[in-house]
Amino acid sequence: MGRVSTIGIVGGGQLGRMLTLAAKPLGFHVIVIDPSPNSPAAQVGAEEITANLYDESALLQLADVADYITVEIEHLDADILKKLVKHGKHINPDPQTIRLIQDKYAQKEFLQKNGIPTTAFMPVTNAQEAEEALVRFGGRMLIKTRHGAYDGRGNMIVNNKAGIQRALTQFGDFKLYAEAFVPFKKELAVMIARGLDGTVAAYPVVETKHERSICVEVQAPADVSKKSRDRAIKIAHQVAVHLRGAGVFGIEMFLTGDGEILINEVAPRVHNSGHYTIEACRTSQFEQHIRAITGLPLGDTDMVVPAAAMVNILGQRNGPIKPAGLAEALAVPQTSIHIYGKSPTKIDRKMGHITATANTIKQALNRARSARKKVSI
Ligand code: AMP
Repeated sequence: MGRVSTIGIVGGGQLGRMLTLAAKPLGFHVIVIDPSPNSPAAQVGAEEITANLYDESALLQLADVADYITVEIEHLDADILKKLVKHGKHINPDPQTIRLIQDKYAQKEFLQKNGIPTTAFMPVTNAQEAEEALVRFGGRMLIKTRHGAYDGRGNMIVNNKAGIQRALTQFGDFKLYAEAFVPFKKELAVMIARGLDGTVAAYPVVETKHERSICVEVQAPADVSKKSRDRAIKIAHQVAVHLRGAGVFGIEMFLTGDGEILINEVAPRVHNSGHYTIEACRTSQFEQHIRAITGLPLGDTDMVVPAAAMVNILGQRNGPIKPAGLAEALAVPQTSIHIYGKSPTKIDRKMGHITATANTIKQALNRARSARKKVSI
């Protein structure tokens, strides 16, 4: 056997941490770039280059030592990533895919061009265009920033002229677009992996719940008709086929009252709605991503339990962490806790998550919620 292969990850937050935890048992060495020393990924054994994710020299340093490069976040400089490809490195997903997805408006155009159903949208550069969009979308819409949005930052629901003014003021210099408000029945998500050889493997359709535009809960499998499940998987396949590069992609969707499924957005990476796969599926989304980007065969995506629920541990105050209640939470049957090693805690910052498995979704949710109530951080 030759030397140990190295995986370089741009970003060492919780996703980098869980990717590291999946890469190590397969024998990979992991190195991450992260702005904070002792990042969540470094704490579980990744080597770390402490640098800004846009720092070209740090990325070149990573490219010098890594055999495979991947990302845990899409808000990156795709041009620098492209230079690394010229440097002879495999980057997955493809920097072009990262560029496409980081611009939510370009992402929508891409979906529309490929006949993949998504929410109605239009560009907005000033108040007049926003007012036109509001009329077109029936008096209720979202104004969203094209770039840099995550966990609800960069979205505003708008119903009138005053709302438009508020959004334009709040989003300042950001490029914007408007999206029709979808009175969805449920939010669904599908994690789908694509191997270097083009093989595709989808995970079960799950149901996600958001509060303040942040994912708070995931139930697997989704409690929807077979027709909706099949449709969601088919749409996820269409996305995976059209995107370039290997890896796991998170596809977030709306299920409308009349059974239509529309893509909300695509993430070119492992995703919060797939965390449940660690305990509930034969191959976790993290191992799957590592397999996909290193050219290993994709693993089985089936669930190994009848049902699972994931509840996020979001920060509830600002300040140094004070983890408590772990013993009480772990006393709940079939419950696992993941603390990400971030500090300080901040209101709504993703600090960890809890996954519970069970025979029914209701039981899994009850377990995960009751464990969540016992933990504070
Ligand atoms: P985003 O950050 O764009 O994925 O949006 C976060 C959350 O805001 C979604 O999961 C939905 O709960 C809500 N949301 C986003 N876009 C829409 C829309 N067009 N209609 C209704 N709700 C939306």
